[in-house]
Amino acid sequence: MPHTAPKLNAFPVFVRVEGEAVAIVGGGEEALAKARLIGQSSAVLRIIAQNAEPELLAFIAQTGANHVAAAYDAAQLEGAVLVFAASGEEALDRRVAEDARTLGIPVNAVDRPELCDFFTPALVNRAPVAIAIGTEGAGPVLAQILRSRIDRMLSPSLGGLAALAASFRAAAERLPKGNIRRRFWSDFFGGAPARAVEAGELSRAHEAATDLLLSNAPVSGHIALVGAGPGAEDLLTLRAHRLLMEADVIVHDALVPEAVVAMGRRDAERLPVGKRKGCHTKSQAEINALLVELGRQGKRVVRLKSGDPLVFGRAGEEMAALRDADIAYEVVPGVTAAFAAAADFELPLTLRGVSSSMVFTTGHDLKGNSLPDWAKLAISGATVAVYMGRSVAAEVAGRLIEAGLSPDTAVAVVENASLANRRRFHGTLADLPSLEARADLSGPVMTIIGDAVAGANFERSEPLAAHMHEGVAKATSEKVQS
Ligand code: SAH
Repeated sequence: MPHTAPKLNAFPVFVRVEGEAVAIVGGGEEALAKARLIGQSSAVLRIIAQNAEPELLAFIAQTGANHVAAAYDAAQLEGAVLVFAASGEEALDRRVAEDARTLGIPVNAVDRPELCDFFTPALVNRAPVAIAIGTEGAGPVLAQILRSRIDRMLSPSLGGLAALAASFRAAAERLPKGNIRRRFWSDFFGGAPARAVEAGELSRAHEAATDLLLSNAPVSGHIALVGAGPGAEDLLTLRAHRLLMEADVIVHDALVPEAVVAMGRRDAERLPVGKRKGCHTKSQAEINALLVELGRQGKRVVRLKSGDPLVFGRAGEEMAALRDADIAYEVVPGVTAAFAAAADFELPLTLRGVSSSMVFTTGHDLKGNSLPDWAKLAISGATVAVYMGRSVAAEVAGRLIEAGLSPDTAVAVVENASLANRRRFHGTLADLPSLEARADLSGPVMTIIGDAVAGANFERSEPLAAHMHEGVAKATSEKVQS
C-alpha cells in the first residue's frame, strides 16, 4: 500500500476581517478570551452580552468594541463575518451556532468542537506576519507550548521587517527574475536592512534596502560577537539563539559547550578556534584575520565566546580588527561566569551595608611588584570575582593578605558554574592556596572573594580547607624547585 500522510480535518486559512464585524455572544471569561484574541486584528468587535462581567466591560471601554447589551437575538448576528458562541451556557451556545449557520456565517462554539465550523489557532502575532498553530483540539496545551517556542525564535521586529518588505515589493519585481531577485530578498531578510529594523532604525533600514536594490554590489558580511553564557545552554539569550540560527559560520572557543554550538543551522560551518589554557589552536591574530576574511566573503558570522564576550574575551582586539577592515559587527551580551557562580552559591554580589562594588579581575596582574588598583578596592570591601584564577590562587591570597585584607575574608569557588556537574567550595582567603594544587578540578573555576560571600548558601559546598595541606605542600615543593 502506498504510504499516505495523515489528512488534516481542519485546514488553516486566513480570513479577511479588516473593518468587518465579528460577533461574540457571551459576557464572561470565555467571551473575554475570544475578544482578546480577535482584538489583535482590525476587525470591529460586536460583543453581545446582556450581563457582561466587569473585566469584559473594561475591555469594551478600553478598545471601543461595540456592546449590544440586550438579551440574545439572532438578528444581532447579521452582517458579521464570524460568530463566536461563548456564553458558557450549552443551550444558548447551541442556539447561537444554529442561528449563525442559518445566516450562512461560520461559527465557533467555545469547548464544543461538534458545533464548530472553524477553530481558533494559538497565534504568534508579528503583524502583518501571523503564525497560526492548530491541533484540531487534540492538544490545546501542546499548541501553547509550540506557540511560545516559535515566539522565542522570531525577532519582535519581524513584523516591521515584513512591512518594509511589502513596501519594496513593487520595486523588487522590476529586478530580473531568478537569482538576482532571490538574492535581493535573501540579503534583505538576512542582511543590513534586517539588522537595522532589529535595531529600531527604520530610516537606515530603508536606505540599506534601497542600496541593495540599486547596487549589484556583493553583500557585506556581518560578525556578531555573541556571549554563549557560562555553559548551561538555557542561559543563552534569545537574541544569541536567533543569531545562531541565522549564521552561515560559527566561530567558537573551546569553553563554549557543544550543545550551544549545535543550536546553529544544520548547514552552518563550524570553526573551533580553541583557546583552552595551554592549547591555543589559533593565535589571536589568526582569529582576527579569520573574522575579517569571513566578513569580506559576505558571511553572516557568529563569533561565540563563553560567558560575556566583553569580559576577558579579547573582544577588544577582534572589534578593532573589524573596525579597521570596515566590517559591520555587533555585540550580544551573555551571562558571565561570575554571575553564574554567584547564582549557584546564592551569593549576593552586592550586599547592603557590606559591599557596594564589584571587581572583575584575573589575578594575573598581581605578579608584579606594585599592587594593582583593584586590591585597594578589595580591602575597602568590594566583592572580587577572579577569572582564570586557579593557577594564581596562592599569589592572589598571599598578596591580598600582605596588603591588609584579613585572612578570614570569605571565599567561594565554583567549578563548572551553571552545569550539572558543578562543584562548590567555601573557605577563607587563608584556604585559597589549596586550589592551585588540586588535581580533582578539571573544569573552569571561578573564585569570589569578599565579605558579601558570607551571605551565600554553603549547604551544598565543600570546605576548601580539606585540601589545605596538598596545596601548601605543592606550593612549597614548587618554590624549592624553582
Ligand atoms: N568571557 C568569559 C570569561 C572567559 S575567561 C565570561 O564572561 O565568563 C575564562 C575563565 O572564565 C575561566 O578560567 C574561569 O575562571 C571562568 N569561567 C568560564 N566559564 C566558567 C564556568 N562555567 N564556571 C566557572 N568559571 C568559569
